[in-house]
Amino acid sequence: MKKSPYTAALMSSQYWLTTSLEELNKAQWEAICDGCARCCLHKFIEDDSIEEGMESTDVPSEDGAIHYTNIACHLLNQKTCACTSYEKRSELVPQCVTLTKENLEHIFFMPPSCSYRRLHEGKGLASWHPLLNKGKKTKMHELGISVRNKVVSEANVDINEFEDYIVTWPLSEID
Ligand code: SF4
Ligand code: SF4
Repeated sequence: MKKSPYTAALMSSQYWLTTSLEELNKAQWEAICDGCARCCLHKFIEDDSIEEGMESTDVPSEDGAIHYTNIACHLLNQKTCACTSYEKRSELVPQCVTLTKENLEHIFFMPPSCSYRRLHEGKGLASWHPLLNKGKKTKMHELGISVRNKVVSEANVDINEFEDYIVTWPLSEID
């Protein structure tokens, strides 16, 4: 099982209040991820700049409307909301979006509640973030921020019928 990134030392230091995303070390960066798994949902972009044949990993313009579905990646553990192959995710799922310090300008591609996006937009961490809740994801699950109990695996649906699975809850935010 993957070790929790929310260590006592990180939680007590409250480093996210004083250090920018660009300045975080690896452990600090990893702990900003709230583990909601909203980024593991299939989404579709309405964007005139997208041409037929483009890969889903290509980044659309910021003006395109992003529609989320409740269809989750087949590697997602829907109960824990954790990736079952985190270290090999890019290899196993080429469309998996890995956010880094280098591609922060594309962060609009992440859901509004994404903790990296929140920090990038100056909103701070939300009250439900595990770093503010003794390293637990309980509050996040209770508030419906995570995808727990709300998704289906891509292995069990016909992706061509994605319109039947469009949902708006991944766009919701709670401070
Ligand atoms: S949406 Fe952001 S905070 Fe949530 S799991 Fe994905 S990367 Fe982490
Ligand atoms: S590979 Fe893992 S991190 Fe990437 S979308 Fe799938 S479940 Fe999420």
